[in-house]
Amino acid sequence: RLHNEIVDIKGNIRVFCRVRPLMSSESGGDEDGEAIRFPLGDESIAVRCGVAMMDMKQFTFDRTFKPEEDQPAVFSECSSLITSVLDGYNVTIFAYGQTGSGKTHTMSGSASNPGVNLRALGKLFQIAQKRSGDYDTSISASILEIYNEGVYDLLNSSGHDKSSAMEVRHASGEGTQVLGLTISEVTNVAEVDKLVALGNSNRSTYATNMNEHSSRSHSMLSVYVTSTNRQTGEVSKGKLHLVDLAGSERLSRTGADGDRLKEAQAINKSLSSLGDVISALAVRSQHIPYRNSKLTQVLQDSLGGSAKVLMFVNCSPTIQSSSETLCSLNFAARVR
Ligand code: ADP
Ligand code: MG
Repeated sequence: RLHNEIVDIKGNIRVFCRVRPLMSSESGGDEDGEAIRFPLGDESIAVRCGVAMMDMKQFTFDRTFKPEEDQPAVFSECSSLITSVLDGYNVTIFAYGQTGSGKTHTMSGSASNPGVNLRALGKLFQIAQKRSGDYDTSISASILEIYNEGVYDLLNSSGHDKSSAMEVRHASGEGTQVLGLTISEVTNVAEVDKLVALGNSNRSTYATNMNEHSSRSHSMLSVYVTSTNRQTGEVSKGKLHLVDLAGSERLSRTGADGDRLKEAQAINKSLSSLGDVISALAVRSQHIPYRNSKLTQVLQDSLGGSAKVLMFVNCSPTIQSSSETLCSLNFAARVR
């Protein structure tokens, strides 16, 4: 623990920016210049904030990933956080950004090119195996979704009516619990993969359009690690939350009838609460407003204190997206 604390001079909140590649049908700029530039090294990014090329706003993050940087490159910068989970820390990794910016690619990826989630689990099992002579490690997982300020168990097929929304309880000493959430023991990555498939299939049964639904809800794969030192009997517990957030785009882009409006308000409330909580933690404020949204309630024991937080701010490289990209980067700059 001491080792980690000395090394971790930047504090417990880190922000990585990742820009996805342009699709063949997209444009990354116009006659006035590009939408995005990478001015210096691998920490800064500049985005167009006006019509002319000179109107660019520059940001600095802990790390900026350019479009050509692949999944292993991204994961390699997260892997020390995974080690922390086995040391008993609570760790939360988010993907924030507008729909289409690469959040799901970053967290879930695809079967042939997995993202942070399965790579993290792979690393957890690998380390647990390596140190199995000294520690008995048990790993379990849950998958939940937060939609319209309701918390739902994605490993349970009971759907999304009000009666299946779960309660969140926080007790100091015990941490945060979602009452009734299914938590399944897992012993290898293939088992986690199966849980994820079950979660996706439960999610798709009540969503008429899975893509739209997933962009309007937060999904969270949580991993619970308990290590027992075989010599001393000392037990340490760590948690890893891997969160694919709802799209951060503003309402005008999605259009708004009754249901859309309600969804947009719920997303706005939870993302702004998340920003408020993380920035309150960053300035070591006395009052941390966890109670303002389900998202921050569920994560209460995994954002502050000794918890470690990594936020990816995912960006689209297109010129059409530059005002949303600017909003995302402003959000991320505020939490850092
Ligand atoms: P979001 O979850 O934020 O809505 P996605 O992860 O679904 O966005 O990404 C939108 C599209 O862009 C998908 O087709 C995805 O495969 C692709 N994509 C996103 N990021 C990358 C990347 N770094 N490299 C290659 N393709 C990407
Ligand atoms: Mg997505």
